Amino acid sequence: MPKVKTAFITGASRGIGRAIAKKFAESGIKVTCTSRTVKDLEKIVSEIEENDGTALAAPIDVSEMTAFEEAVKKSAEKFGSVDVLVNNAGIVKDNLLLRMKEGDWDSVIDVNLKGCFNGIKAVTPHMMKNRFGRIINITSVSGMMGNPGQANYSAAKAGIIGLTKTVARELASRNITVNAIAPGYIDTDMTTDLSDKMREEMIKQIPLGRTGKTEEIAATALFLTSDEAAYITGQTIAVNGGLYM
Ligand code: NDP
Repeated sequence: MPKVKTAFITGASRGIGRAIAKKFAESGIKVTCTSRTVKDLEKIVSEIEENDGTALAAPIDVSEMTAFEEAVKKSAEKFGSVDVLVNNAGIVKDNLLLRMKEGDWDSVIDVNLKGCFNGIKAVTPHMMKNRFGRIINITSVSGMMGNPGQANYSAAKAGIIGLTKTVARELASRNITVNAIAPGYIDTDMTTDLSDKMREEMIKQIPLGRTGKTEEIAATALFLTSDEAAYITGQTIAVNGGLYM
């Protein structure tokens, strides 16, 4: 079983994706970092390089299939393979169903769910050729338990769980595992909009009594790339302080 050498990580400029890129790079994995914002990508790539890691910036919008495929091709050419895909890029456009605009439904599905489909389509030929691959999709506790105001987001995230199980079944014979991580409430830009009161209320629901750290999601992702995780596929691993069990 080859130890993984390369990873393609979407939404790697901030939050959870950034923590995953840093942790992977510290473990010697060459990482391709994507997001839509070139300036942010340059920053994470230079941070990784300053710490003796190897990183490549790939500015793409994950909802665009051709751009995704091109970026994966470039990454494979530069690093020799794409051993791991982390489909992490995500957005929220919250509103109660009655007020939710069609455009906000479409864009959240396009980025969060179609983005994962695009990523899997783009890496699969490379992984099949190598007869090895690890695909990690970042879903959410919202996709498992629902959350008022997040009809679009929770539908996309629940969709990711179904996608993970189906693709895990389709690719198992090629030695490609496909798993999802479902974070609970993690401190990132995505969650800073909550008021102090909402935050307090949320923490009350978490048995471990605190929010999660991006590094805790990154550690789970790193585990899924390890030789020790070779027999895990089609699973959704909840990292949520017990918020949903
Ligand atoms: P952030 O908002 O902090 O970061 C999101 C990242 O995705 C950024 O790098 C952003 O860069 C990138 N991104 C957004 N849209 C696109 C796009 N269309 N194409 C390419 N890149 C894009 O989010 P988090 O780190 O909090 O979330 C990461 C993942 O974890 C998401 O899938 C989210 O749903 C999930 N999650 C987060 C939780 C939390 O509590 N924070 C809880 C559960 C799940 P840019 O905008 O420059 O493109």
